[in-house]
Amino acid sequence: MPQQHLDTIPIWEAYHEDSECPLCAMEERCESQFLDTALGGALMEPDTRIMTNQAGFCAQHLRMLYGRENRLGFALTLHTHLKDYMESLGKQTEALEKELQSEQKKNALAKGAAGISKSDPFFRRLDAAISHMEERSGSCYICGRIDKTMDRYVETVLYMYRKDPEFKKAFLASRGVCMRHYPLLLRGAKAHLHGETRLQFVHDLMELQQKNLKRMEEELEWFTLKFDYRNQAKPWGNSKDAVERTIKKLQGNVFSEEGKK
Ligand SMILES: [Zn+2]
Ligand SMILES: [Zn+2]
Repeated sequence: MPQQHLDTIPIWEAYHEDSECPLCAMEERCESQFLDTALGGALMEPDTRIMTNQAGFCAQHLRMLYGRENRLGFALTLHTHLKDYMESLGKQTEALEKELQSEQKKNALAKGAAGISKSDPFFRRLDAAISHMEERSGSCYICGRIDKTMDRYVETVLYMYRKDPEFKKAFLASRGVCMRHYPLLLRGAKAHLHGETRLQFVHDLMELQQKNLKRMEEELEWFTLKFDYRNQAKPWGNSKDAVERTIKKLQGNVFSEEGKK
C-alpha cells in the first residue's frame, strides 16, 4: 500500500468521536480545510488557483464559502473563476454566433428546414454550448477534492480493518455509518479487499448497519411516543435528539456549516 494511504490518525480521531457516521466526521474535516484553501485568494498556490478557476463551486459550497465571511478572499477566488468561465464561454458563443449567422444567410426555404436535421452545424454548435455550460455548472472544486480524499480514507479504513485488530474492534463497536457512506464502504470493499476478508467485511458491515438502523428506528419511535401524555413522565433515554440523528443517519451531517454561523 502506498505511503499516503497510511494516514490513520484522522480515522482514529473520527472513530473516537462516537457519532452516527465517522466517515461524515472525516468528510467534514477535509471539507472545512478545502473551504479554507478556496478562500486563500491571492495567497493561493497557482496549481490550486487553476483548479478552482476551472472547476468552480456547487450551490452548497458557494453558500458555505459565502458563509465564512472572508469577503475579499472569496471575491478574489470568484473573480478569477468568473474570468476563466467567461473566456471558455466566449469561445463557445463566438462559434455559435458564426453558425447562427450562416444560418441566417440561408434562403427562406432552407431556414424553415433548420432544426429538422440534428446534424445541422448550427444545432451541433448549440448542443456543444449547452453541454459546455452544464458541465461547468456541474463541477465543484470542493466536491471533487472531497471525493478523492474520501476514497483514500475508505481505502485506509479497509486497510486498518484488515491489519489492526484494535481498529476492527472499534469499527464493530461503532454506530455504523450514514446511508450516504454505506455504499461507499461497500464499493471500497469491492475494490480493495479480496477473498475471505472481503466476505467477512461485507458481512460485518451489513450486520453493524442493520443493528444500528434498528436502534435509530427505536429511538425515533420513542421520540414520537414521548408526545403521548401517558409517557410524559417517562425518561427520554437517547431519544431527545433522535430526529437530528436520524437526519444524519440518512443524509450525513446536513447541519455542519449552519451550526458554525
Ligand atoms: Zn456519513
Ligand atoms: Zn461542492
